Amino acid sequence: MNMEARIRGIGMTSHRTRLRLIDRLRSSGIRDENVLQAMLDVPRHCFVDEALASRSYEDCALPIGEGQTISQPYVVALMSELVVNSGFLGAPVNKVLEIGTGSGYQAAVLAELVPEVYTLERIRSLSRKAIRAFGDLRIRNIKSRYADGFDGWSDQGPFDAIIVTAAMEEIPDTLLSQVRDGGVLIGPVGAQNIGQTLSVVRCFDEKPPQIRRVADVKFVPFLRGCG
Ligand code: SAH
Repeated sequence: MNMEARIRGIGMTSHRTRLRLIDRLRSSGIRDENVLQAMLDVPRHCFVDEALASRSYEDCALPIGEGQTISQPYVVALMSELVVNSGFLGAPVNKVLEIGTGSGYQAAVLAELVPEVYTLERIRSLSRKAIRAFGDLRIRNIKSRYADGFDGWSDQGPFDAIIVTAAMEEIPDTLLSQVRDGGVLIGPVGAQNIGQTLSVVRCFDEKPPQIRRVADVKFVPFLRGCG
């Protein structure tokens, strides 16, 4: 199958199958129409192995190799909704950093919604594959790097939002310091064995951060150093 046909999809990856996923996201409580449109437009099957393509519009996490997973579509939509609605006092959300590129799917969804997306991944093979997928899909507003996300991306910061797609036992101060005044860090916080809470941490220069807990989630661990 050529690239155009693969991206368009057939059968279990067709537009019709994707519409069913959007209905499901809507009934699960995703309300933002721009997010729903981005979830419809970004071909999730292009971010998983061809052998798993037929399952890519089920609302579940799937393996992407190296012991990692592409998040469940509902969680991607929920986190995207939190990002796009995170503007403080109506400020626009222009520049977002994702930690944990994985397949690249979450970054691709964000790239439909915000002008500038930066993403970091600690496993080289995953970082490479994601960059290839961005190229195949002609996504031009994502900058990717193979690096340890613990350090953030200081020369590009501060960011309006930082989204961490791996479970943090504690939120690194380095990341909080790269969130702009009034911006947010969004991600799962909690130990691996007990599950985590998707949290939104609003950061301020002059006062302590405010934490809002959104949902119980299960993510792969946030690990220090490159793999
Ligand atoms: N957002 C991804 C989900 C990836 S799973 C997607 O849409 O597919 C979490 C990813 O975080 C894994 O690929 C893992 O390797 C990566 N990760 C974990 N700790 C990291 C760190 N310190 N820096 C960068 N990436 C990290």
